[in-house]
Amino acid sequence: MDDRTKARLRLHLRSEKALGLDSVPVAKESGLIESDEPHEETSARPEPAQPRLPVQSPAQASPPPALFGQDEQPALKADGLMPMPTVDPFSAPMLATDEKRRRLIAMDENEVRGCTKCRLCETRTHTVFGEGDVDAKIFFIGEGPGETEDQTGRPFVGRAGELLNKMIAGMGLERGQVFIANIVKCRPPGNRVPAPDEVATCTPYLERQIEIVRPRVIVTLGLPSTQYMLQSKLSMGRLRGQWQNWRGIKLMPTYHPAYVLRNPTPQTRGAVWSDLKQVLTELGLPIPKKNS
Ligand code: URA
Ligand code: SF4
Repeated sequence: MDDRTKARLRLHLRSEKALGLDSVPVAKESGLIESDEPHEETSARPEPAQPRLPVQSPAQASPPPALFGQDEQPALKADGLMPMPTVDPFSAPMLATDEKRRRLIAMDENEVRGCTKCRLCETRTHTVFGEGDVDAKIFFIGEGPGETEDQTGRPFVGRAGELLNKMIAGMGLERGQVFIANIVKCRPPGNRVPAPDEVATCTPYLERQIEIVRPRVIVTLGLPSTQYMLQSKLSMGRLRGQWQNWRGIKLMPTYHPAYVLRNPTPQTRGAVWSDLKQVLTELGLPIPKKNS
């Protein structure tokens, strides 16, 4: 089987998993999350927690029912046993803004905050659900909370966050116009790279967040989120700067801001800026002159 066929098969299996079809085990790859980017050591400067959006209605913890284009799914296969996996889950109409917000808040309040599905719950202070515009066109995905994020419950608020904010500002956007989340919602102790089983356990939350927000473009920051989303073992050097596809959404891998902080060379910074410019072009947004 060539690599493309394998990648397609993995996507197919993940679609089944998203639909709760456990008949086919999802391919697990050992060493999937081997970072070539050292993890950030976050500064110990907690920023005040921002008030979270209030829950508007009592818990309905059941998973969102009609997000997966069920109307579009073909009927049962000829053998009558198994529905076809959904290849394009985004053919259902986009949710209204209020409904997106309601579902995201419900997921955070009723599922993520009390989550004990993996060992990372034992050492966390706060879960870090993610935040941003529920109608964001750009969805950034990082690796996992660092120390400051664990203390505040917010994503990218340490040193890496400061650089991410600058990257977003450099794009001519405000942080509140994008959505920011991580592949794991709880801090790995000592900022270690999240283990493959932790990533596998936590990412259904992330995938549901993306399904709800339904951005035009996903930007993966660093190797772990890129390798997870693309189910690839290639290096950042190979993957960054090239458009990829995640269930029909365009995905641009770029370097993690913590990596840029450790390697602040013109090459690294230029690569990130080039990747972000491709994102702006894809969205038809103007490219600001200043390259900061
Ligand atoms: N690094 C990440 O990958 N995510 C955060 O939220 C903060 C730092
Ligand atoms: Fe749950 Fe994710 Fe935290 Fe693990 S990392 S306990 S799966 S929220």
